[in-house]
Amino acid sequence: MYDFLIIGQGVAGSLLAWELAKAGKSVFVIDKGNPYSTSNVASGIVNPITGKRFVKSWLMDEIQPFSLKCYREIEHDLNVNFLSELSVYHVLNSVQEINDWSAKAATFHYEKYLSTSEIHYLDKEKVRNPNGCFEINGALKISASNFLSAIKNWLEAKYCYSEEVFEEAALNESRDFVEYKNVRAEKAIFATGYDEFFLKKHSNVKFSPVKGEGLVVEISDFFSENIVQGNVMISPTMAKGIYYVGSTYEWNFRDELPTESRKSELIERLKDTINCNFKVLEHVAGIRPASADRRPILGFFPNSRIGIFNGMGTKGFSLSPYFAKHFCDSLVAGKALLPEVDLKRFF
Ligand SMILES: Cc1cc2nc3c(=O)[nH]c(=O)nc-3n(C[C@H](O)[C@H](O)[C@H](O)COP(=O)(O)OP(=O)(O)OC[C@H]3O[C@@H](n4cnc5c(N)ncnc54)[C@H](O)[C@@H]3O)c2cc1C
Repeated sequence: MYDFLIIGQGVAGSLLAWELAKAGKSVFVIDKGNPYSTSNVASGIVNPITGKRFVKSWLMDEIQPFSLKCYREIEHDLNVNFLSELSVYHVLNSVQEINDWSAKAATFHYEKYLSTSEIHYLDKEKVRNPNGCFEINGALKISASNFLSAIKNWLEAKYCYSEEVFEEAALNESRDFVEYKNVRAEKAIFATGYDEFFLKKHSNVKFSPVKGEGLVVEISDFFSENIVQGNVMISPTMAKGIYYVGSTYEWNFRDELPTESRKSELIERLKDTINCNFKVLEHVAGIRPASADRRPILGFFPNSRIGIFNGMGTKGFSLSPYFAKHFCDSLVAGKALLPEVDLKRFF
């Protein structure tokens, strides 16, 4: 019998499996192996300062160092390479932005990310930055495909992974365990991201999903080891000359498929940001599993052996490491969950 059956091997399920295994628990993971899952199509950035007002993201002082340590540890233990530490160069668009940024740079607890009030100028021939840029330190970029395949290989090597569509009707819950086909576990945890079937069944758990689209482009006469945030974000991938461009945000959508209108929008925004030739190699889309209150969702349903690790929304690559450990500490050592992430808030 396994300790935990985890359904879903996106960034959330992967990191939960990792933390539980590290804590000495046995896990079995099932995933349908969708190469266009939300985690697979994400740009994989951990950006400490976001939004028009340059606000430090929630819990970032804990989350950023924890993410860095966690991803580096996985790279080391599995002998893989998927993480880059880099800066974000934010193109300054207006006097208002320059003022906001200067005020933030002088604010206590922002110095780690906005350490200098110096304005940088990127090559004006290539990047449209007439007013210059400011630098955000401490960003991370995870190659989602390298990370997800490393975790999948690690699980497969331990015979703890099955690639199949999980059918909830075949999950049986008894007093002492849960059982799915030939897998028996003490508890099952759904880390299935945006999953219409699961969400309909548990309709009191409130989600507000956000569709996103991105482009993978080849930019021949441009080079940046860092992220450029102009009218769109351009981040380097692990392949030379190939960049991720995105992404879009859409609250009313029909399906998870890429659309021509968003592709055109991203191309226009890229042209607004750089003055280089580029070729679109891939156009991807996914649905971010955001909760209605923009906080992760962790915990077990009342009087049940079935739990959930979800709600990572727009920030799965930054929130999942920290909250996988947080959930693991609650499961293994009985530590209390933060009330704002506890599934109990919906009951
Ligand atoms: C365009 C775009 C760009 C993004 N960029 C960033 C970014 O830069 N930084 C960041 O932090 N976040 C980003 N995000 C958000 C991030 O991708 C999500 O927060 C994250 O992927 C959610 O992870 P998850 O594991 O909860 O869900 P998912 O990635 O959806 O994983 C769920 C897994 O469950 C599996 N599954 C579902 N149902 C079943 C079933 N019935 N049987 C078997 N398996 C099943 C799926 O195959 C999938 O692998 C982006 C999202 C989009 C769409």
